[in-house]
Amino acid sequence: MTLLIAFLSLFAIVVGAIVLVMLLTGLFFEIMNARHPERRIQKDRVNNRKWQELKQAPVSILTLTSCFVFGLFAQQQGWTIAPLELSWWSGPLMLLASVVLYDAWFYWVHRLLHRKPFYRFHALHHKSVAPTVWSNHHESFVEALLNQAYYALVVFVLPMPWQMLVLQKLYDQISGMLGHAGYEHFASPAGRSPWPLASTVFHDQHHGTFRFNFGHTFSFWDRWMGTLHPRYDETLKTFEAGDVAASPQPQMGPERR
Ligand SMILES: [Zn+2]
Ligand SMILES: [Zn+2]
Repeated sequence: MTLLIAFLSLFAIVVGAIVLVMLLTGLFFEIMNARHPERRIQKDRVNNRKWQELKQAPVSILTLTSCFVFGLFAQQQGWTIAPLELSWWSGPLMLLASVVLYDAWFYWVHRLLHRKPFYRFHALHHKSVAPTVWSNHHESFVEALLNQAYYALVVFVLPMPWQMLVLQKLYDQISGMLGHAGYEHFASPAGRSPWPLASTVFHDQHHGTFRFNFGHTFSFWDRWMGTLHPRYDETLKTFEAGDVAASPQPQMGPERR
């Protein structure tokens, strides 16, 4: 009984924090997008689906919170491998290892979701061909569970201090929304070859063309597996120059629903 109360208390705190982070991040991008219309990525597509997308957010948030809280709670109870004590080296090392590991998890789960028997669980997320910051939580229960199961399992294989797990989740929530923002505000050479990071253009092209860019934080899985959008690097570069208005349109694929 005490265990259940402890679990539910942690769950309530995390749900509250996730909703708060979602609202603050969403507000930030709505303001940024309104101030910089020239940074819109898919200039010929309009997305007025904000409220439709938000209707699905409770399913997504409750699922991801369950996975995350399970991982955190299991570690707290000593059911997992013992985490390292937090120090100047263990924290950054475990965080980096987990972000790299999650990117591999995300890439392959995402590839699986694009296979025929699984696509029905991912179709909802792809209803937004031009994503908005709110599309991040527009996903089915099964899709959220497959992606977020990572947080329930990682504590059994990686001795990660709980503080780093919290930091990664926070990063994951914000970067997920950043990837769907629909506007490229932070274009930088670090987001293209030879650097490994992704960008908003990266995931936007996934929604726009459907066939490329399956990764999350990094582009290296897509580069290795040959699934990188052929014009990804050059499209991102056009947003760096400071004369975005004069840049060519990113290549679009057909509308797909
Ligand atoms: Zn997809
Ligand atoms: Zn997406």
